Amino acid sequence: MLLVLDFDGTITDRDTLDFIVEQHAPGVFREAEKALQTGTMTLNEVIAYEFEHVTSSLDEVLALVRERITLRPGLPALVDFCRERFVDAVVVSSGFAEVIEPVLAWHDVSLPVIAHSVSFGPNGAAVTFIDRPPCPVCGEPCKRAELPRLAAGRRIAYVGDGWSDRCGAAAADLVFARSSLARHLTATGVAYEPFDDLVDVREGLARYLLPA
Ligand SMILES: [Mg+2]
Ligand SMILES: [Zn+2]
Repeated sequence: MLLVLDFDGTITDRDTLDFIVEQHAPGVFREAEKALQTGTMTLNEVIAYEFEHVTSSLDEVLALVRERITLRPGLPALVDFCRERFVDAVVVSSGFAEVIEPVLAWHDVSLPVIAHSVSFGPNGAAVTFIDRPPCPVCGEPCKRAELPRLAAGRRIAYVGDGWSDRCGAAAADLVFARSSLARHLTATGVAYEPFDDLVDVREGLARYLLPA
């Protein structure tokens, strides 16, 4: 089995990308989120546009994230559980490896990370998107397009909270969802287990793998 973990709002208590952009350009953040919801911009267009307005250095961004973002409880025990049960766990994020990898390291968590890349600078941040084929379902280079290669025929458990998880979650065998992802899956009739923290995910995964 493969466990796919979203990062922002799933591993963390709040979305680091939203937080960073809101700090720099709250008007741009609201405008771009509206464009995403109404379909006038794709997710990658929104991310690129939002981060053009972020003028901090990477060190400044990381300092702010370190001060203001915490992890949901239970990640180290979930990672240990996966190792014991031969479940490969991977972070698949629509955020940036340059932010995610330090956050995991601060918490002594070692997980492979598949994410976009960013170069911060005083004239705005430039995003380099991961090279991924368009998804056959939504037509965007979404997380779902990453799953067949990662899963290599194994069952997929998916953990997420937001917009970027919608398509991938619908392709998984077992879904843990919270926040707007949970509301979306309810509305579209996709079964999921609600979670608040990663203790819930570990317990749900244990029930799935080792039914009583
Ligand atoms: Mg998220
Ligand atoms: Zn898709």
